[in-house]
Amino acid sequence: MAKKCFGYDALRGGNILLEFDQTILLADDLVEPVEGLPYVAPGFIDLQVNGFDGVDYNSPETTHEDIARSLRTQFATGTTRLLPTVITGSREGMLGSLQNLYAAKLALPEGEAIAGFHVEGPHIAAEDGPRGAHPVQHVRKPDVEEYRRWQEATDGLIKLVTLAPEWPEAPAYIEALVRDGVTVSIGHTAAKREHIQAAVSAGATLSTHLGNGAHSVMSRHPNYLWEQMAEDRLNADFIVDGIHIGEAFLKVALRAKGIDRSILVTDASSPAGAKPGRYFLGDQPVDLTEDDRVVLAGQTRLAGSALKMHKGVENLMKMAGLTLVEALTMATRNPARVGRIGGRMKGLAAGEKADFVVFDFDEAAKSIRIRETWINGNCFFRE
Ligand SMILES: [Zn+2]
Repeated sequence: MAKKCFGYDALRGGNILLEFDQTILLADDLVEPVEGLPYVAPGFIDLQVNGFDGVDYNSPETTHEDIARSLRTQFATGTTRLLPTVITGSREGMLGSLQNLYAAKLALPEGEAIAGFHVEGPHIAAEDGPRGAHPVQHVRKPDVEEYRRWQEATDGLIKLVTLAPEWPEAPAYIEALVRDGVTVSIGHTAAKREHIQAAVSAGATLSTHLGNGAHSVMSRHPNYLWEQMAEDRLNADFIVDGIHIGEAFLKVALRAKGIDRSILVTDASSPAGAKPGRYFLGDQPVDLTEDDRVVLAGQTRLAGSALKMHKGVENLMKMAGLTLVEALTMATRNPARVGRIGGRMKGLAAGEKADFVVFDFDEAAKSIRIRETWINGNCFFRE
């Protein structure tokens, strides 16, 4: 028997009735006026999550129970699909983390939310600044054989790979991945214009957390930030926590890319959603400070964020003046399209997966309160 949900369609406006089982069967306008319905929108999609609620995705030893808890904590933030992200590490460590996450996906009811995996690195820039918090000893050149082992370990669920395009091997590597349907993103890079152009010609379509993983001081122009902002064939994702990038850069970058090419990611690491203190990102100790920064232990260098998706949507409105529709588009349709998340590209429409969030929205305060999170027609969070 089909389930039903009534709400105000946050993307298209107007009250709607959703009928659904695992997929949406019907999305129809309500003819009768109804006051006071909650907002409903497609569930949020986060293309970059290193961990959550004290749980580190970059360890082969992380238990299924912990992974389940970290997913449930994310459901309370409106996330319905995510790409757990494995960063630069040893060959065995990265492969082990991917195997462990894939086993958890198969074993857990919450694993439905794992739409695939993002591998960020290890083929990134080795120098300080662009490398960010990735461990330098494990940076290495692109290797298609290693990528094939990641795919074998996850039954082909590597969906997104971030690399620095200045490696001489990068164009051939990108072409091989794109042939497999993998989205390739540029990040943690010190690339020159010609490297970026070659990567795009080879099929790269995204810039990873544009504005971060960069030198603190660089040539005013040309530089790799302008080159990526100016390249219309590249989408871009942004960590909108108010810490990683300021309002001016965010506004300018969003105008350069346009809303349709812009994506919200959390880049959350294990302390996100947890209390201030010491945590781990792979082998590296990291601290969550009182003001919600995640830094390498004892340093100021950022090592992921403590951002939650619904807070990112709020921040897009507060920091960059976006409308709710624009901010939600960056958290739903755009990551579905660029990350090739099947059944999620059309929003609340018949035939799509029944993934949606029910929430209250305070227009004056630009604040969102998540009330329910549904994945594949099942309620995984209710306030
Ligand atoms: Zn990064």
